[in-house]
Amino acid sequence: MSTIEHGFKAEVRQLLDLMVHSVYSDQQVFLRELVSNSTDALDRVRFLALTRDDLVPAQEDEPGVRITIDEEARSLTIDDDGIGMTEVEVVENLGTIAHSGSKAFLEALKDKPEDAPKFIGQFGVGFYSCFMVAEEVVVETRSALPGQKPVVWRSDGKGTYTVDIGDRAHRGTRVTVKLHEEAAEFAHAARVRHVITRYSNFLPWPIAVDGEQANSAKTLWLEPPSQVTDEEANEFYKSITLDWRDPALKIHVSVDSPLQYSALLFVPSERPWDLFHPEADRGPRLYARRVLITEHARDLLPDWLRFLRGVVSGEDISLNVSREMIQKTPALRKIRNALTTRILKELAKVANSEAPDGEAHPYASLWNDFGVVLKEGYYREADDLRERLVPLLRFNALSHDDEEGLLSLADYRNAMPEGQDAIWYLTGATRADALSSPHLEAFRNRGWDVLLFTDPIDEWVAATLTEYDGVPVKSVSRGEISLEDEAEGEKADLSVLTPWLEELYGDAVAGVRSSGRLTDTACVLVDDEEGLSANMERLLRQSAPGEVPAARRFLELNSRHPLIKNLARLKEEGRAEAAQSIGRLLLDDALLLEGTVYEPAEMGRRLQALLEQAAATAVAGPPPAESE
Ligand code: ADP
Repeated sequence: MSTIEHGFKAEVRQLLDLMVHSVYSDQQVFLRELVSNSTDALDRVRFLALTRDDLVPAQEDEPGVRITIDEEARSLTIDDDGIGMTEVEVVENLGTIAHSGSKAFLEALKDKPEDAPKFIGQFGVGFYSCFMVAEEVVVETRSALPGQKPVVWRSDGKGTYTVDIGDRAHRGTRVTVKLHEEAAEFAHAARVRHVITRYSNFLPWPIAVDGEQANSAKTLWLEPPSQVTDEEANEFYKSITLDWRDPALKIHVSVDSPLQYSALLFVPSERPWDLFHPEADRGPRLYARRVLITEHARDLLPDWLRFLRGVVSGEDISLNVSREMIQKTPALRKIRNALTTRILKELAKVANSEAPDGEAHPYASLWNDFGVVLKEGYYREADDLRERLVPLLRFNALSHDDEEGLLSLADYRNAMPEGQDAIWYLTGATRADALSSPHLEAFRNRGWDVLLFTDPIDEWVAATLTEYDGVPVKSVSRGEISLEDEAEGEKADLSVLTPWLEELYGDAVAGVRSSGRLTDTACVLVDDEEGLSANMERLLRQSAPGEVPAARRFLELNSRHPLIKNLARLKEEGRAEAAQSIGRLLLDDALLLEGTVYEPAEMGRRLQALLEQAAATAVAGPPPAESE
């Protein structure tokens, strides 16, 4: 094979541009990324070796990562006994990027390009970080699979790379980074050793710098939990997730019977970018003690705990359990159940803890980042888990003066005044939308709190959450409610008006009735006791426009409102034309109040006709009194 020159794919070029042309303060992360690729490759070949005895041998009896430094040449090499790459894999892995990762990465950097080094590993594009410090990078690799040629990949990161046949005799990969002048510090052993100890200390493979082991290489998850400090655990978390922030929560479990397993799991301090990407890799790493079985054991935890990162390791796990078999393997199913319970317990501990003086509650940010996912669990799971999830739920409420929704159902229940016999909620697109709803009027008046459900998923939660602690949970916009205050002004008799309006509206409403929930607004649309809510209808329309039938709802009238009183009078006095145009607009108005417009042009025309009359009346009326 002669040298073949390739152009990087467009998205790689964009990313490389960023690496090559910016000066970053966190350049040392390139070491963490390359070393982490090497230890991943070591994990993979160890797993492969369980089932094959024909693999290309390693260079050393004791496999690991070896970093050597050539101060004079201003270069360093990172050599591993890992799985290596074939020619096809080299082009695939070091010339393209999984599309979603690169796009999301560039997106995340838009506002803070200086954070590129911190983010890069988490987006699955860590290899390219070496171009922050390199004039040239050479990758010599040989796949562990027999019969594959060794390959040399070479690039200066400026748009192209070359691929050649190499001469590596052993399996594994050696990356040589020829540093540019400003990055010469990484051609000093002491500096490199420091970075390795700092960022890769607990990767479970020996990492040597110029022949001397630089990391502890402890398999931290197999240590007794009491002997692992938070600091050590945090470092471990960072080295396996390539996150640069400490985790929000650590859960270290070591169990001896009936099954022997351990887990070192973490809740990240911020929502990862791909939490809602269905194709994202998820699930903790699964080890059989020291042997990595899979990097992402998807079914080892329920999907709604997908934000947990870390390691689960079992003593008795068969080494040939495949990813697909996790749910079918009884031992793993038991571990999954036990871990789920344990994680919920640990989350509850945070939720029930006291906030440190003057600081935000530790559960607040956790809930804001992962609450939506926990709510998925709430509506998907069966009763036993639901019961454990209920105390973890938090909601925004009428009584709150900001966006932070941190009222638990228990908080709400305990603050309920005498006479209130239900937990009330309102669903809406945003907090502002919900707060402007006429449905809240009577509740505000009474001083009853209302939970505001403003996540799309809350509609599903609401459908499931029908009772808490013996108290029914009800929607303020559903069914008949009688909350008006008898003392407040005289009511109009609506016995003629309502049947007439029902006829006028035809199928557009399920019925028209007098309201027990309004104080200031003339009318409101109310969801049927069963059936779609207006908010649910809106959500379904977003995902399947045109296919969702309009839910038929009741129009409720405020019989104390002057508009309704006058309309009733117009009707009684037989002034059909005026009554009809106002009657029509009344329904338009109720729709507008909840943010629904079915036929904007029709509505606009009706409104115009009425405005025309109003303007004519105003012109015909007496001129305004002279101001003094
Ligand atoms: P990530 O490691 O998150 O997948 P990278 O950009 O760091 O992203 O690496 C891209 C891919 O290149 C890796 O997934 C792996 O398949 C391959 N690779 C990188 N370094 C090595 C190595 N030392 N040994 C074997 N394969 C490697």
